[in-house]
Amino acid sequence: MNNGSPAPSPVAQLSQAGGGPNSPSLSPHMDNSLPYDTDAPKYFFQEKYAPLNVKGNFLTLCACPKNVELGEWLAHQIVEQYRLLHGMLQVIQEVNSVTGFPICNESTCPTMSAGRLTYTWLVDGRAAKISAPKFINRVEKWIVSKIHDPVMFPTDKVTGVPDTFALNEIASANPPSPATTPSNEEWIGKSSGFPPTFYKDCQGIMKQMFRCYAHMYHAHWLNPFWHINKHDILNMCFVHFVTVAKYYKLVSDKEMEPMQPLIDLFIKQQRIPTEALTGGHWGQPTSS
Ligand SMILES: [Zn+2]
Repeated sequence: MNNGSPAPSPVAQLSQAGGGPNSPSLSPHMDNSLPYDTDAPKYFFQEKYAPLNVKGNFLTLCACPKNVELGEWLAHQIVEQYRLLHGMLQVIQEVNSVTGFPICNESTCPTMSAGRLTYTWLVDGRAAKISAPKFINRVEKWIVSKIHDPVMFPTDKVTGVPDTFALNEIASANPPSPATTPSNEEWIGKSSGFPPTFYKDCQGIMKQMFRCYAHMYHAHWLNPFWHINKHDILNMCFVHFVTVAKYYKLVSDKEMEPMQPLIDLFIKQQRIPTEALTGGHWGQPTSS
């Protein structure tokens, strides 16, 4: 269980802090039937527990190449972000052979929570509190259906970079507002065949992905990510996600509040580059 990290184990500290019946120090892999403690110390917000095994930042992976249409690039980014998120979700969805339950189950996570915040799901037009595993399952199915929807992601129609020089010039001279669909019938991804709602759909997908990350940190950072020494991979995926989210203004600052201390930490460490914060894609000097 000990992962050999030079840092003192948060498990030991937690027990000093008066570990309750569901203290991970007592049975870190067997507490699969008790709701997680929303008031437990948030180690993942502390710098010494927030390592990253990458150098530099994700700007080069995130910034849209000059000869690629923004809509196509965003679609590519969404698919990639979902691939990374899915890999992390599998960690909490893996069924424990002893208990017969996944780590994130109906008992540990009766609601989709991030600390004291609970996310709801619309059921028959009404906001309903459903369990985290149900919520995450619905999010994943919904995202996969969006990604595979030929109207939303018309990847078949797109054969490559549109070589219309004029379009690029128009785009750089008059960048579409990231928040609204411009009235002059221009929208992100139009030239590549994406629908007018494309950018808003990307925002919706990224918002739900963020909520999955928030739940993984608040409910499952210690168990299992810390215990199996995957907290640094979780951080790597999350810092990449936040860089893309901020650079393209896909998730609002308000929505990100449950993870703000860690985001601030990554900003301080320049893991999240300043370019992603100062206007992002739309704030960069226009290329020639
Ligand atoms: Zn959970």
